[in-house]
This record gives sequence, structure tokens and C-alpha cells, in this order.
Amino acid sequence: MQNDRPRATPALIARRLGLSLAAAALLALFITWAETGVLVGGDPWPGVFFPRFVQLGMIAVILTAQRIGLLTGIVTGVVLAFVAVVAFEGGMASYYWIGEFFLHALKMIIVPLVVFAMIVGVSSLGDVRKLGRLGGRTVVYYLLTTLAAVVVGSVLVNLFRPGDGITLEAAGHATSKAAAGISDLVLSFVGCTGDPAKGGTCDSNIVDSMANLRMLPIIVFSLIFGAVLTTIGDKAKPVLAFFDGVNDAMMKVVHLIMLLAPLGVFGLVAGRFGEALAAQGTDAFLGELQALAGYGGTVLGGLAIHGIIVLPVILYLTTRRNVLRYVRGNGGVLLTAFSTASSAATIPLTLEAAEENNGVDRRAAQFVIPLGATVNMNGTALYEAIAALFIAQAYGIDLSFAAQLLVVLTATLAAIGAAGIPEAGLVTLVTVLEAVGLPTEGVGLILAIDWLLDRFRTSVNVWGDAVGAAVIERYGLERPADGGR
Ligand code: ASP
Repeated sequence: MQNDRPRATPALIARRLGLSLAAAALLALFITWAETGVLVGGDPWPGVFFPRFVQLGMIAVILTAQRIGLLTGIVTGVVLAFVAVVAFEGGMASYYWIGEFFLHALKMIIVPLVVFAMIVGVSSLGDVRKLGRLGGRTVVYYLLTTLAAVVVGSVLVNLFRPGDGITLEAAGHATSKAAAGISDLVLSFVGCTGDPAKGGTCDSNIVDSMANLRMLPIIVFSLIFGAVLTTIGDKAKPVLAFFDGVNDAMMKVVHLIMLLAPLGVFGLVAGRFGEALAAQGTDAFLGELQALAGYGGTVLGGLAIHGIIVLPVILYLTTRRNVLRYVRGNGGVLLTAFSTASSAATIPLTLEAAEENNGVDRRAAQFVIPLGATVNMNGTALYEAIAALFIAQAYGIDLSFAAQLLVVLTATLAAIGAAGIPEAGLVTLVTVLEAVGLPTEGVGLILAIDWLLDRFRTSVNVWGDAVGAAVIERYGLERPADGGR
């Protein structure tokens, strides 16, 4: 994730910082003048000028840090976002639009990027039969890591029992076992939200799915298209050359959008936390955190075990890669996942980091990452298991071993079904609760801090995809690339 500019010297950085801070001071002066009617002095003047100057100064620092390197810029963006939230609380909500701009720039390119990347990735395997090997091993990797995550979550929640302190009465027990069935899953491949007979809706065609950012049908379409291209002989050549060119051009667009990342993550994090504080007040927000500390701590602990121990061990044992170097190559990716709370929005960066920072073979990266962002959600699966069992504990419902096993299975399926967008996991959690007959209104219990935990689980989701790309490069391709370790 380095840019091509010459290395910035300390003198250059200092000069840039000075210039950017001066620009920030001028802008703050202008804003203060617009708000108070005086250029300098007057009673409300310091109260308007100084906060603005500090906030704009932070942006100046982020822009300067970006000169050192993109990762330095992104790290600075996230750190200063937290500093700003502590210092200005709700005042930071007005910076959210900067993050929105970055988020929507990413969303703008997801569909063409995924379509072209997957078609090129799959067709460059050369033979449809190799797709079977790649696909089969990828699915095994997804399933095994997701199951591992759910097991980690279930063990922790049974060990710490964070729900025991809370006593709630279930208003009406949801006894319906109408959880998402196999028909819903199969239909989702062609753009349906579920079985139309049971109230699901379907996109009318692939363009509709693209417009709705429904990734699964887009991926299925691209996979089939890429695969059949390998079967039509010479006629495929010009088509492939075209897709290859567009794919390279899309990656360049990703480079450009990434230049927005440092400011984007600052806006998203400071703005979202600021918004929460503005809406609830700091005390209420902290109170909420405290009340749910046991549950939140269990989820974070589980995510940490899976993200810091399980996945790195898998990465090391299967690929012998230098884990720290691999993490570093994904630093910007993980922070962007944290800031956007969306695996789908992070796809461009994950792809870029895998190929360019970590030297993962393009064919593996372009297959595993877009698909993984849609179906492989280790963090979400772990959280769903903890949340469901926490709700059971809070309502004083003792779940048998068989019922807990059902939670494990449905949490795995629910994570596969969750879209890579903010808080999608909260929606599929209802399915898990219904499957074991737990009160669905229990979701209300964890609602307040879900947006916060979502960021951590999304980072683990994306980390699982990044590790998957390296593992599948090693085991899914016939001739693994040897560069970039
Ligand atoms: N936000 C998560 C993601 O995009 C999904 C979830 O809500 O768990 O990966």
C-alpha cells in the first residue's frame, strides 16, 4: 500500500505540516468570522476559533502523515479520530460527511471491480476443472474457519456467562422453527432475499442485483461467465484481453480512491462516535457500555482469540509466511474495515493489499477475496453465537447441548447469509434466535452497542478473507506463485 512518490524527507514533512497548519488556521479564521461576525476578538470568538482550528489542524496532520506513507496516514486518521471524539464529543458529528464521501467512492466501484476481477481471476485458471479444485478448497477453508470462530465464541460465552447478571422475562416466546431454509440459500444465488412463497423478494435480473449491490448473484454470474470463457477456445481471446485491461484500470482507480482513505477513516470514526455521543450524551453512552461490558468483552475477547491466535496460526502453518509482515501489508485494510463496518466496501483495498503488498497470486486473490467478503464471515459467526447464547442466559433459558449445537450450525449459516454491509449480522441473528426458539426481542438487549462491535467483527471478517487468499494460493492453485513472501 505504498504510493509511488519519492520518499519524504523530514524537512519536507515539516514544511508540509507548517503549510497545512497555516491553511487550517486561515480556514478556522474564516469559519469563525462567518459565525461570529468578527475577524478576531469578541466574546464567543475563542470558543469558535480554537475548536475549529484544532479539528482542522488534525486534518492537516493526517494529510501530512499521508506523505510518509498511506498506512501511516490511515493509522494517524484513526488515532486522531478517537482523540477528537474524546476532546469534542458530539461536535465531531459534522465531520461524518468526509467519511461518507470515502465510503461512497468505494461503493461506486465495488460492482465493476468484483465482476472484472472475478472473471479475470477465474478465466486465468485456464481450465474449468481447476475451478473445481480452487472452489472446493476455498469452501472448505471458509467452513472450517467459520466453525472454529463459532466454537471459540460458544466456549467463551459458556465460560464467562455474561448474561447471568441480567434477568428478563420473555414476552412471547418465539417458537417458530422457520429459520432460513436451504431453499432460501439456493435462491439467494440468483438474487432473491428468500423464498418468494415465504415473503422473499427477487431481483428481476443481474443488472437489478448490481443496482441493489447484492453480491452473491453478481459473484455467481461472474464465476460462470469466467468459467465458460475458458471453454470457447480462440473466441475468448479478445474478450479476455478486454476484461484484463479493464481489470488493470479498475485497480488503478482503487489506488486513487485509497488516497482518500486517511481522511475517510477519520471522518467515519470521529463522525460516527461523535453522532452517538451527540444523540445519547457521553454519560448515557458510557453507562450503556458499562451495562453491556460483560457481553461486549466476551465478543471482543473471542474476536481477539480468533483474529490474533487462530487465523495467524493457520496462516503460518499452511503457508509459512511471515505473519507480522502479512499483517502489516493488511494494516490499512483492517483499519478501513473497522471504519466502514463493511466487508464489501473494503474489497478494493483487500484485493490490492493481497496482490501488491503481500504478493498473493492474482488468481487466488481475485477468487477468494470477493467471494469471502460475501460469504466468509468469521467475526460475524462468532458474534452471532455469543449473542444468541447471551440472550438465552439473560432470559434465564437453559439450552441443552443439542440446542447449543443448533446455535453453532445456524450461526455458521447466518454468517454466510449476512451481507457485507454494516450491521447485517444483527438481522441474521434473528434467524439464529428463531431456530432455537429464543425470544427475538432479545435483539433489543444488544442493539445499543451493536454498531460498535460491528466494526471489530468486520475487521476479523476481512482478516479471514485476507488469510484465506494466502492459504488458497498455496493449496488451491496448481502452481503457486513464489514471489512476495
Ligand atoms: N458488517 C459486517 C461485514 O460487513 C457484517 C455484520 O454485520 O456482521 O462484514
